[in-house]
Amino acid sequence: MRTLIAGNWKMNGLKASLVEIQAMVDGIGEGKAEVDALICPPATLIAAAVDLASGSALQIGGQNCHAGMSGAHTGDVSAAMLKDAGASHIILGHSERRTDHGELSAEIKDRVLAVFDAGLTPIVCIGESLSDREAGLTEKVVLGQLEASLPREAADKSFVVAYEPIWAIGTGHTATPDQIGEVHKAIRGALATRFGEAGKSAPILYGGSMKPGNAAEILAVEDVNGGLIGGASLKAADFLAIYEAAL
Ligand code: PEP
Repeated sequence: MRTLIAGNWKMNGLKASLVEIQAMVDGIGEGKAEVDALICPPATLIAAAVDLASGSALQIGGQNCHAGMSGAHTGDVSAAMLKDAGASHIILGHSERRTDHGELSAEIKDRVLAVFDAGLTPIVCIGESLSDREAGLTEKVVLGQLEASLPREAADKSFVVAYEPIWAIGTGHTATPDQIGEVHKAIRGALATRFGEAGKSAPILYGGSMKPGNAAEILAVEDVNGGLIGGASLKAADFLAIYEAAL
C-alpha cells in the first residue's frame, strides 16, 4: 500500500505562506515511488497552491465542505468548489470541527457522500478524548465514529481514515507506537469486515503531534499507512523531513 503524508494547515496561511508550498514542490519534485504528499491549506490558498504544485507530485486538498454542491448556505464551501479549485482530497470530521462546530458523525457521513459525488477522496478523522481513553472506551469510541461517519457507498470508492487521538493533537503528546498500533489494527479489522477489499486498501493515517523526530518510528508501526500532520506541516523543512522519513 502507498504511504500518504498529508499536511493540515488548519486556519493558518496567507499569500506569503505560499513560499512554503513552493519549497515543498521543489523538495518533492516528481515524487518517490510508494509515497504520496498532500497539503491542505485554507480554501483561500488552494487555487494558488495548485498552480505552484502543478507538474510536481505534491497534491493539494481542502478542509471540510458542505454536504450540498451549491445553494443558499452563506459562508460554506462545497466539494464541487474545492474540486474546481484543484483539490484532490477533503479532510472531514476533524476533532476541531466536531468540538468547535458540534459536527456529528451523521453529518460527516453526508459530506463524505458529497466528496464521493465530486470525485474527490475524503480523509475521515476519528479519535478519542483523554477521558474516553482513561475510561477504557478508546476502541468503542473510535470504531463508533468510524461506523457512523462512513457511508456504505465507501465500499467501491477510495477513501482515507485518519486516527487522531484528541489528546495528542497540537499538544506535543504523541501516542506511543503500541497505542497507535492497537487502534490502527482495530480500525483495519473493522474496515475489512465492513468494506472488503476497499476496507483493506484504504490508507489509515496517524495524526497527533507527528514531527520529524518521531515520524520514522510512527510510520514503522503496523497498519500505519501515513500521517496527518498539523503544526509540523506549516514549514516546508519539517514537512519534507517527515516525507523523507516515509521513504
Ligand atoms: C491535526 O490537526 O490533524 C494534527 C495532527 O495536528 P498536530 O500535528 O499539530 O498535532
